[in-house]
Amino acid sequence: MSRAHNYHRPTTIDEAVSLLAIDGHVPLAGGTLLNADDDPTPVGMVDLQALELTRVEAADGRIVLGAMVTLHDLKCDERIPTALRDAARTELPSTLRTLATIGGTVAAGNPDSVMLAALLVHEAEVGVVGPDGPSSAPLANVLADRGPCHGHLITSVSLAFGGTTAREAVGRTPSDTPIVSATARRVDGTTTVALTGVAPTPVLVGPDDPTSGLDPIGDFRGSADYRLHLASVVTGRALSALEGAS
Ligand SMILES: Cc1cc2nc3c(=O)[nH]c(=O)nc-3n(C[C@H](O)[C@H](O)[C@H](O)COP(=O)(O)OP(=O)(O)OC[C@H]3O[C@@H](n4cnc5c(N)ncnc54)[C@H](O)[C@@H]3O)c2cc1C
Repeated sequence: MSRAHNYHRPTTIDEAVSLLAIDGHVPLAGGTLLNADDDPTPVGMVDLQALELTRVEAADGRIVLGAMVTLHDLKCDERIPTALRDAARTELPSTLRTLATIGGTVAAGNPDSVMLAALLVHEAEVGVVGPDGPSSAPLANVLADRGPCHGHLITSVSLAFGGTTAREAVGRTPSDTPIVSATARRVDGTTTVALTGVAPTPVLVGPDDPTSGLDPIGDFRGSADYRLHLASVVTGRALSALEGAS
């Protein structure tokens, strides 16, 4: 049964932000999580599909993705850095990738999302509009805050391109969601690494000491200790792959 007690389809960002200020109203993007959620709490759904947030454009040396760009669109767009296109291909089943959006992926902050790890190493900035107007913040901060505040709408995600990237992961099977993955990127001699599966959201870590400060929660796929062990292993492999590529 649908969770929606109310449904709106605004055509302007201002209208959407006004609707989101109403108690219990949330953005509806692809709906792959919102409509599949076990949470029975009814919500007012503010459908974002008429807001024209599906553009992909280059600006100021970065690529700007509208929040409603789908993972399928990302996978197929040759302007998008390879690491992101590959990451898009590994998220969700292909049927859901045609619905799931980049804004929804950021807001959901799934700890296992290799897409979020790829965005982190590509220096992603999240554009948000709220009651006080537009603002932007690094993706790492948005994830640390567990998504945008209530009443705020993600409108874009911009990223840097260039550099060399590598991703290494360990999962129960090669096609399963990784238990732990490391995505590394090197630009002008500077290396960044992002891990999945070791924190409440994907995180940037120091390449020389990737497990510093991590306190993962174990589950049926791997204990906390095993995840820390994997974090070191996959980071080492990703850094070696970068060396091999340069
Ligand atoms: C079978 C299945 C497999 C999945 N596999 C994966 C996976 O491999 N990796 C992964 O990361 N996730 C996975 N998910 C979770 C989820 O589908 C994804 O995170 C998806 O990318 C969410 O995007 P969406 O556009 O469908 O968001 P929605 O379901 O529409 O929304 C998700 C949340 O984000 C909020 N939101 C959406 N858009 C915005 C916006 N523009 N601004 C502010 N808030 C917003 C919504 O209010 C809601 O709280 C899976 C889910 C299912 C059902």
